[in-house]
Amino acid sequence: MLSRTLSALAAALTIVSPIAHAEKAHVHGVAELNVGVDKDTLRIALESPLENLLGFERVPKSDKELDKVRRMASQLRQADKLFLPTPGAGCKLVNVKLESAVLDPALLGEAPVAAASPGQAAARTPQPGAKPAHADLDGEFVFQCAQPAALQGLEVKLFDAFPGYRQIRAQVVTAKRQSAARLSPKANTLNW
Ligand SMILES: [Zn+2]
Repeated sequence: MLSRTLSALAAALTIVSPIAHAEKAHVHGVAELNVGVDKDTLRIALESPLENLLGFERVPKSDKELDKVRRMASQLRQADKLFLPTPGAGCKLVNVKLESAVLDPALLGEAPVAAASPGQAAARTPQPGAKPAHADLDGEFVFQCAQPAALQGLEVKLFDAFPGYRQIRAQVVTAKRQSAARLSPKANTLNW
């Protein structure tokens, strides 16, 4: 009886461990946001399950899915509609970088990489018979602020643009302090 319980437990652990041992928690509906303020530069890094943004996490298979990826990329590139720094700080979006292991950089609006390493190309090619895996989207959004002293917060509108988000775990690092917050559709503003 005990050995049966133990073997059932072992089986359960075997199934759970690949997710538990992932380098970072990948939970659908949840994303990580790292916000850094350095002088007049506001840098926002988003690490998100693709599921939250697209409803799937693999190479797009149809024209409809390709369109969905392009629409997502174009929304994320208009990051000044998704991330609203304190209005008085005069922050302007100056750079956006988007990356995902399962999406072609060109689909995401990134310039083609001149000499892609064979390893990178292979990562985007679906392996026959491979098990469906999870995939993330990494985004970096950089703002330059004319009045950095007035910069005291950030409203995060990702919840409105992409209903797949339930919670965003945010960390803020400024020259003066570090803080963390959990954002939700009803509490979508970071203050520092
Ligand atoms: Zn996933």
